[in-house]
Amino acid sequence: MTSIGLADAVRFQDLGLREEILKAVEEAGYREPTPIQARAVPEVLRGRDVVGIAQTGTGKTASFVLPILHLLAQGRSRARMPRALILSPTRELASQTAANFDAYGKYLRITKALLIGGVGMGEQERLLERGVDVLIATPGRLLDWFERGRVLLGGVEILVIDEADRMLDMGFLPDVERIVGLLIRRRQTLLFSATMPKEVRRLADTFLRDAAEIRVAPKVQKAELVEDVLVPTRGRDKRALLLRLLREQEVGCAMIFCNTKREVAALTRFLRDRGVDARDIHGDLDQSVRQATLDAFKKGEVRYLVATDVAARGLDIAELPVVINFDVPHNTDDYVHRIGRTGRAGRKGRAFTLVAPQDERLVQAIERLSGGRLPRLELEDPEEGRRAPSDAPDRNQQHAQAVEAPDGERASGTRRRSGRRAKTAASRSASAAPKAQPVVGLGDHVPRFLQIQVPVRAAAKSGAE
Ligand code: AMP
Repeated sequence: MTSIGLADAVRFQDLGLREEILKAVEEAGYREPTPIQARAVPEVLRGRDVVGIAQTGTGKTASFVLPILHLLAQGRSRARMPRALILSPTRELASQTAANFDAYGKYLRITKALLIGGVGMGEQERLLERGVDVLIATPGRLLDWFERGRVLLGGVEILVIDEADRMLDMGFLPDVERIVGLLIRRRQTLLFSATMPKEVRRLADTFLRDAAEIRVAPKVQKAELVEDVLVPTRGRDKRALLLRLLREQEVGCAMIFCNTKREVAALTRFLRDRGVDARDIHGDLDQSVRQATLDAFKKGEVRYLVATDVAARGLDIAELPVVINFDVPHNTDDYVHRIGRTGRAGRKGRAFTLVAPQDERLVQAIERLSGGRLPRLELEDPEEGRRAPSDAPDRNQQHAQAVEAPDGERASGTRRRSGRRAKTAASRSASAAPKAQPVVGLGDHVPRFLQIQVPVRAAAKSGAE
């Protein structure tokens, strides 16, 4: 299984970690290790190289952070010479990993620095200068600093290559290889990847020695706790359909994925023009803007985050109830990663994918991966594509929603389920409708769902960690 699952009968106390770490883990609220933690922590503590085949959402970050903290608790850092190096493909993942070190290392005196693009580096440079135990970096930025002589890599005893398949996707593998070539040979290397394309396998074979291979999710296996549904769209106006989906499925807060930066920007504009509380996050935005948006989303101050795959990779947002694929992703791995943003840490999630007739081939691949036909949620009637989008909301009020069961039956059970779900969604996110705001672009007609007031406190809970 891929969503967080607990390892049979293994307790954190059995893993051989120091008391200070166990205390911090307990305070984080974790009762038992996840399977990747139960299997990886002892291997890392033994000094072995590890290949961890695990997606985000499985607890893989703690599976290397916890034993590294333990190993580094002895010994001392030297100026500019970190003892552990964590390579992350994105700034967001790097920041989250840094936060993990802070959380689990709060009772230890472990120092760290973060080298990523887009944030003021003066403070990080001062930290490095003084000597840090852990350096967390994106590959390009690290090389940049190395070349300027600001960081020395000769003291790195433990190297982590995180999300290696994403490194590959983003064209970072040559940088990673260069960095590994700068390290001492007598080191411990941990490599994590959700999937194992041949280039990543080659990287592991070249740079790891006698590695323990721990696989907690077969390639492209879906998170079990996510209920995913396809939303067929025949008309051309996918955006109007999205508005309708947000309202009819009581989506109080969600991440909405598009395939391109351009679509992210256009869709965000469309939603905001209609008073929907959406913000965009993609690779071209300044780091401080991305971080501020993400923080606002986590706090529940923003209800819908519109994102590309790259920007969303590695974002850790607990309790995200819904993911929407505005565009069908081009491959099943991205599908799995996207829907894996919900249904995390033992909680149920929902994923909706808008599918147009031309997406048929991609839909087949997703259904093959899912082991059968996925339920369809019919929101659009055959005439819809021809109507002006601003007509839609009122008529939608009378339009009976029907969810087809996988075997093609109209399932009354499914309807009952959606009723129950409506309740949980309501308790999670307080209100069905996007926040009422001045509406631009709909003329005099303001759909009823945009007029519902949302209690601010309750709304703020949804989507927050
Ligand atoms: P990751 O796979 O590292 O992105 O972690 C996914 C989420 O699971 C994060 O929000 C972690 O805080 C959480 N998590 C990590 N380990 C555990 C655990 N043993 N029990 C419950 N939640 C956990």
